[in-house]
Amino acid sequence: MRYQRLKGTTDILPDKIQQWDYLLSTVGEIYRTYAYQRIDVPIFEKTELFTRSIGDVTDIVQKEMYTFEDNGKRSLTLRPEGTASVVRAYLENNLHQQGGIEKLFYFGPMFRAERPQKGRYRQFHQFGSEAIGSTDRLLDAELIAMNMRLLHLLGFTDLQLAINTLGNIQCRERYNTELRKYFLKHDTILTNEEKDRAERNPLRLLDSKNPKLAEIIAQAPTSIDILDAESKEYWQELLSLLTELNISFTINHQLVRGLDYYTHMVFEIRTDALGAQNAVGGGGRYDHLIEELGGKPTPAVGAAFGIERLLLLKETYDINWHYDEPLRIFFSVWDSSVRREYLDLIEQLRSAGIIINTDYEKRSLKSQMKLADKFGAHYVLIAGEEEHIKGELLLRDMRAGEQIQMTPAALIKRFTGTMEAMNND
Ligand code: AMP
Repeated sequence: MRYQRLKGTTDILPDKIQQWDYLLSTVGEIYRTYAYQRIDVPIFEKTELFTRSIGDVTDIVQKEMYTFEDNGKRSLTLRPEGTASVVRAYLENNLHQQGGIEKLFYFGPMFRAERPQKGRYRQFHQFGSEAIGSTDRLLDAELIAMNMRLLHLLGFTDLQLAINTLGNIQCRERYNTELRKYFLKHDTILTNEEKDRAERNPLRLLDSKNPKLAEIIAQAPTSIDILDAESKEYWQELLSLLTELNISFTINHQLVRGLDYYTHMVFEIRTDALGAQNAVGGGGRYDHLIEELGGKPTPAVGAAFGIERLLLLKETYDINWHYDEPLRIFFSVWDSSVRREYLDLIEQLRSAGIIINTDYEKRSLKSQMKLADKFGAHYVLIAGEEEHIKGELLLRDMRAGEQIQMTPAALIKRFTGTMEAMNND
């Protein structure tokens, strides 16, 4: 093979596209009922947008970004996540001037130079939602409810919601200081990289997968210990809203997530069915990111989900997604020299939304039947020699195994419900 796709990328072949379309249209359908509107943003941005927002001392910025210099010597990066770009677009297009809260959703490819494995790719796809402009905890609770409802509707019924609070920004800072002291007290069991992390971003050590750290992580101070009154009140109210919305959750004080901009609530939705890649999505509140990127102080909350991971998960469940299957007709003609006479009929059927394919290579009727089968035709429309003389066509129902002769006008009526006159009738 001369050219192969790059490691960590995938081709989404036509037989999978129906699933993608179904998933994304369900996302849109559910998100719109919570008044979220779709936004599309570019897949590359100035590198600084991501380093500023995600944070210098995160895995993403330190080792996973696809960063390159363009001809104008600008440093650009393929987006590793969606929030930074949505916030940039919010500020740049003055969406804040519209007053009220902006509820936005997006989907598209993201890029991270991770070590590829099942459920982890270098180009993957996310859908995400951001509610910008309010500290109301109902927005957090609704964001979680919306995503749980979506996952339920898609058939994922036993996912677990893990939730934690980091407190407001002052608490988060205090918590970081506490954790730094705590981990450095145990520095003999830390690797050099972990020591560096303990110095620079100790929160991230909490979600370390190193089994040697499990015990000291389990005994580490929790964020609950350092919450001030405002953060405590926020947390209690959020938990009671989730309870009112009938959402079950597990509080997990080790959950911190890999980005620096979170304050207060962080959450993750997990599965037991995908091995190490157990998160299907997650999010949290980010009350200072907009200010960090040059806007006025504006609180916000958001979440993102991995599309490939959900599709992988679907394979482990016994779920059937019911697609609206448009009618498929294979048009077969005995002699390609008369095909032109039928073009108008075919176009009329197509304009009624019927999918029509035909043979383009002058095949025999027999091999056209094979093509029709491969195409998954519900009907084959045959313009045979005998029918051609009579000005009719043969309609063969592939599932029922029956066939009838019809005039073109009767065909149009049957499939479009109208008696529209045909030009060549
Ligand atoms: P994050 O932006 O890291 O919070 O990721 C949100 C979700 O995106 C995760 O829960 C995964 O479902 C998905 N995701 C993140 N990174 C990858 C990746 N490298 N490959 C596939 N899916 C990913």
